[in-house]
Amino acid sequence: MSVKVLYIAGWGRSGTTIVDNILNSHDSVFSTGELFYLWRRGLVQRRKCGCGKQVANCHLWREILDHAYGDSPPDPRELTELQRRVTRVRRTPALIGSPLSSEANEYRRIMTRLYHAIADVTGAKLIVDSSKVPSGAALLPQMGGVEPYLLHMVRDPRAVTHSWMRVTEQPDRGKPAVMDQHNPADSTMHWLVWNTFSERLARTYPNRYLRLRYEDFARAPRATIDELFAFTGVAPLEGPFLDDTTVMLQPNHTVSGNPSRFRTGEITLRADERWRKEQPLGPRLAVTAMALPLLHRYGYRVSVGA
Ligand SMILES: [Zn+2]
Repeated sequence: MSVKVLYIAGWGRSGTTIVDNILNSHDSVFSTGELFYLWRRGLVQRRKCGCGKQVANCHLWREILDHAYGDSPPDPRELTELQRRVTRVRRTPALIGSPLSSEANEYRRIMTRLYHAIADVTGAKLIVDSSKVPSGAALLPQMGGVEPYLLHMVRDPRAVTHSWMRVTEQPDRGKPAVMDQHNPADSTMHWLVWNTFSERLARTYPNRYLRLRYEDFARAPRATIDELFAFTGVAPLEGPFLDDTTVMLQPNHTVSGNPSRFRTGEITLRADERWRKEQPLGPRLAVTAMALPLLHRYGYRVSVGA
């Protein structure tokens, strides 16, 4: 039987983590978090799993890795290097359109085994991988025995920039740390490129590509999650919604992601619209000008007023 994988693509700070965590809180779903970073952040840098243990010491990930690779697991440092060479974001179109290089094929084989092992060990009907990186999504339809679905999440780039400019603690390391920051030009350039590439992947996911705006999810979270289950053809079984905007988030084993992945228990879902009040005019104008072509496309207002 093939393994259903829902890959969430898009530029960071677009709401992917909360969607991922809500999906994971259904009995039929297992979320890996940003599986792309299992090797570098999880195993080389020894960061924390969503369960609070280091990924390298998490019983579930040990079992998955054993099941996938037995006595000859890939060396995490070598695999990090291989991944860096194969999956540069600018190479995304090449991974779709032409025969894979031997290195890309090797990486594809290793990841295929991993997805199969995740399905075998967890028994989940749907695996959610919120890696976001478009090049990772480009390889998924080329993996044997994998039935891939692509959820492309977008968010107003002015809100995204505002989030990237905030200092945010990163609790998944052993010592105090903060997340990377991006200035408006850098964040918006990434926003343009990652969204353009994510859209280009649609043709390799025939009838299995869905674009979702964070703002539409935030307005109707429960209905949106219902749509995602219908999209993948998986029954939601027991889920976390207490009412239309309140969820009881379950613990998870996500290997990497936004710090909000460590939140569990009862959470009220509200749209994060702080940027409208807090963002200075300078960055707002700069982002609006840069993002103009796609702002229209995604239905965001061009007006810079609050
Ligand atoms: Zn864990």
